[in-house]
Amino acid sequence: MLYKEDFPIFKHHKNLVYLDNAATSQKPQMVIEGLKKYYEEENGSPHRGAHILSVASTTIYDKGRKTVQEFIGAEKTNEIVFTRNATEALNVIAYAYIDHHLKSGQNIVLSITNHHSNIIPFQRLCKKHHAELRYMYCDEAGHLLDGELNKIDENTLLVSLPMVSNGIGVIHDIKSVFDKADSVGALKLLDGAQSVGHMPVDVKALNTDLMVFSGHKMFAPQGIGVLYGRYDLLNSFEPFLSGGDMIEYVEEQETTYAALPERLEAGTQNVSGVLGLKLAIDYINSIGLDEIHKLEKEITSYAYKKLSSLDFVDVYGKEKRGALVTFNVKDVHPHDVASILDNSGVAIRAGHHCCQPLMKYLKHPSTCRASFGLFNTKEDVDALVKALYEVKEVFYE
Ligand code: PMP
Repeated sequence: MLYKEDFPIFKHHKNLVYLDNAATSQKPQMVIEGLKKYYEEENGSPHRGAHILSVASTTIYDKGRKTVQEFIGAEKTNEIVFTRNATEALNVIAYAYIDHHLKSGQNIVLSITNHHSNIIPFQRLCKKHHAELRYMYCDEAGHLLDGELNKIDENTLLVSLPMVSNGIGVIHDIKSVFDKADSVGALKLLDGAQSVGHMPVDVKALNTDLMVFSGHKMFAPQGIGVLYGRYDLLNSFEPFLSGGDMIEYVEEQETTYAALPERLEAGTQNVSGVLGLKLAIDYINSIGLDEIHKLEKEITSYAYKKLSSLDFVDVYGKEKRGALVTFNVKDVHPHDVASILDNSGVAIRAGHHCCQPLMKYLKHPSTCRASFGLFNTKEDVDALVKALYEVKEVFYE
């Protein structure tokens, strides 16, 4: 089955080899069509009016929340809060909860593999509250080193790490980290930006208190993200943004707030974004997450082996990994590699991948990253390898 046919972008860019799925995914026809239909037939402002279009958009919005709830195994729909992206969801956690609870003498424990969006909000709050920011360090493949879990102690308020690192591709052993967090009563936050939509992710099975992810990395439009929170925890969050739609009553001097999830979704909701996310999940479910994971694993292993066989390329990490491979062409800057690849129609990402602390720690401040989606084929990997030989020719010969 050629899933590429489901993605209209490849009709417009016939020879494009798109290997930048970790940055943003391409969108399937059914998501694009659904959004067109929404704006042509159903567009309205949800939760505000009695008219036909307001009701239509409210129904779409609420259905979207139910679909997300079921997709990630949450218990209740009001454990799902819509945000712009994973970054905004992490900022909600930071400023609606952590800011109100973090005290001097406490600490927050992060993995060195975290994305900047899963570092900076907590770094700022640790500075503000004179708390300690600790990192769990890893080996060169990204696996957390023995003993690093001991950084989680009875003064730890929060432990946060990605399920799959976008910087090195490691799949973390979440259970061992979260068991340790449980043993001291620390909150557990999972960054699902590179795993949700790529492999089965169930918040109950993973035993996480909080999870964030972005729709645009899993076939949905840009501008829609999700914050999952265990109900009693999320219900104790202070409002983050305030304004329309998150209130019960507003007096001149006082306001009472709406219940979850509205309390954390101020302003006119992103109905088309939620619809796009729902359709993306429908698309994923129509194929099956196990199938997607299997295909991505196959293509990633193929790429890992092919790239590792090139004597002019350094590949980072082990074969077992998320759907991305990071590498460098020896003595060539990754930006030069990416430009030459682009000339050959191969789209990859080069740079620090918003993981500067990790890259500095691993001592390769910049890398190339090829990241895969369900539509990629072995021919795409072969095209990448061929284009890398062109890089070699330009720089070495
Ligand atoms: N976490 C991880 C692991 C990511 O890969 C990314 C995006 N590269 C983010 C968080 C942030 O996602 P967004 O920019 O969509 O908020």
